[in-house]
Amino acid sequence: MIVGGGQSGLAAARAARDAGWEPVVVEGGDRPVGSWSSYYDSLTLFSPAAYSGFPGYGFPGRPDRYPSRDEVVGFLAGYADWLGVEIHTGTRVVDVTRAGTGFEVHGEDGRVFRGDAVVAASGAFGNPVRPTFPGLADFSGQVLTVAGYRSPERFAGRRVVVVGAGNSAVQVGYELAAVAEVSLAVRSPIQFVPQVRGGKDLHFWLRTLRLDLLPPSVLARLFRGTLVFDNGRYRAALDEGRLDQRPVFTGFTETGVRWADGTTEPVDTVIFATGYQPSLPYLAGLGALDPNGRPLHRRGLSTIDPGLAYLGLEFQRTFSSNTLRGVHRDAGFVINALAGRIRAGAPLIDSKGK
Ligand SMILES: Cc1cc2nc3c(=O)[nH]c(=O)nc-3n(C[C@H](O)[C@H](O)[C@H](O)COP(=O)(O)OP(=O)(O)OC[C@H]3O[C@@H](n4cnc5c(N)ncnc54)[C@H](O)[C@@H]3O)c2cc1C
Repeated sequence: MIVGGGQSGLAAARAARDAGWEPVVVEGGDRPVGSWSSYYDSLTLFSPAAYSGFPGYGFPGRPDRYPSRDEVVGFLAGYADWLGVEIHTGTRVVDVTRAGTGFEVHGEDGRVFRGDAVVAASGAFGNPVRPTFPGLADFSGQVLTVAGYRSPERFAGRRVVVVGAGNSAVQVGYELAAVAEVSLAVRSPIQFVPQVRGGKDLHFWLRTLRLDLLPPSVLARLFRGTLVFDNGRYRAALDEGRLDQRPVFTGFTETGVRWADGTTEPVDTVIFATGYQPSLPYLAGLGALDPNGRPLHRRGLSTIDPGLAYLGLEFQRTFSSNTLRGVHRDAGFVINALAGRIRAGAPLIDSKGK
């Protein structure tokens, strides 16, 4: 049973099918295309087409172009058809329970599915992080998360602060700066990485130098914080003052924000681009989550239940875990490990993986 019909759920279904299982995907939305259709309108992939396809199912078109959001939606819909596995759309999973040696997966619509193992692949887009700040409740301006942002028109002429230093914060801030006065409010300075180096896209180097395969612990030692892919335009916009980055504000006033240097400024809109957390309330009954609702797992395998696994978690196994190019590698690992654990009636691994 696979919860979620995005790239992660489809990759899990592919790996399960190839392992001789009968995967069933249960998707809350009306199409098995994940959250891509809800991303902002101007989004283009940070990976060229050549690095955005799936094994045996490449991304169409010129390999060096950066596909649009809608192309990804079409690509995933085509992949789901091509897979030919059982997919139920329009059923949001609300609970997963143990039943004998397997599981029951309960839909909001009353449907119940039974299976030997569960892969939770429901993404994080439905659960954007919105940090709290003093005074936020009394702020009279507009506050939203980047998950709710689609296009710049309705922000024209406004003073906008985008909180965050990742790819979404920079892309949205840059786009808004064409119509609005924009500051990026950051905890630490934005770290740009050139999209192209030595005439090759960054993804060529990630693959060639095998950086894509590095475990998160090694990465954390190499890089501090998020890297923002840039072909030069974002850094130029900052250098030319078309938008600025400054230390994040310390709190809200009724009409604006209080900056770190103590000055206050009226602001119309604050957009939090501060990341996402997996949303897995349907696993709470299994005791599979920590007190903050995060999955207890090691490399995607539940440390609580041998029949439960995850796919599409950020840095689940490597830098590329939660990407189009990396998810099938993780899917193969997770399905093989699940099969082994179930076959062997394997004991649970503890949180240290012993
Ligand atoms: C703005 C943005 C840009 C990105 N750009 C890139 C990029 O350029 N290249 C790249 O490789 N990666 C990119 N990513 C990262 C990643 O590839 C995407 O987030 C991708 O959508 C993750 O796929 P997923 O299947 O794990 O999750 P999702 O796409 O979120 O899919 C999860 C699915 O689960 C369903 N679901 C959720 N809860 C339930 C439930 N309870 N019951 C049933 N169904 C449920 C949802 O409806 C959804 O269809 C980007 C991410 C974001 C947010």
